[in-house]
Amino acid sequence: MKEKILKKEIPIEVSARHIHLCQKDLEALFGKGYRLKKLKNLFQPGEFAAKEILEVNGNSEKSLNFRVIGPVRKETQIELSKTDAIFLGINPPVRDSSDLKGTPSAFLIGPKGKIKSKQGVINNWRHIHCNFKEAKKIGLKDKMLVSIRVNGLCALTFHNVKVRVKKRSRLCLHLDTDEGNAANIKTKGSGEILLGEEGFPSSSPSFP
Ligand SMILES: [Zn+2]
Repeated sequence: MKEKILKKEIPIEVSARHIHLCQKDLEALFGKGYRLKKLKNLFQPGEFAAKEILEVNGNSEKSLNFRVIGPVRKETQIELSKTDAIFLGINPPVRDSSDLKGTPSAFLIGPKGKIKSKQGVINNWRHIHCNFKEAKKIGLKDKMLVSIRVNGLCALTFHNVKVRVKKRSRLCLHLDTDEGNAANIKTKGSGEILLGEEGFPSSSPSFP
């Protein structure tokens, strides 16, 4: 099928490894009644990088530092690239955020305690954030899979990018550091959403 490239660019952000904590785990690691301290707001409204950093340990002797992202969530979630996971001796599945059933656990080490997460280690499924207005304008639907082309010296096309439509979101593609490095994007970049001639996504919306 002949593809036409949408004129509107999509901003790209690379997410370094990070952790979302539930209040119970936050208190176990930082002390009773602890509240996250905001370092800076993120591009997605309501989300912020916290000042807190945790040490995460897997099944190897090695550990890595993870930035905590706020606000607190219902469940603790540890997001990392395949490279980070191999370093830590963990084998996380590619999952949507919050889809944590059966995912591996990790040891979390904070200033006031060490805990083993119930589960929650994932390689976050590459995804687009957008709000309902942006989705309608571009022809995107929630959970749809699309392809994003990145131009430049390390040009490549990311397939099976999942669309996540939420009221308060802002249009942006989120990649992990392995994906960003492959496309030669350090922290921020841009790409193009590829849609088929009749406005259908360039990859099957039914996968998997
Ligand atoms: Zn995201």
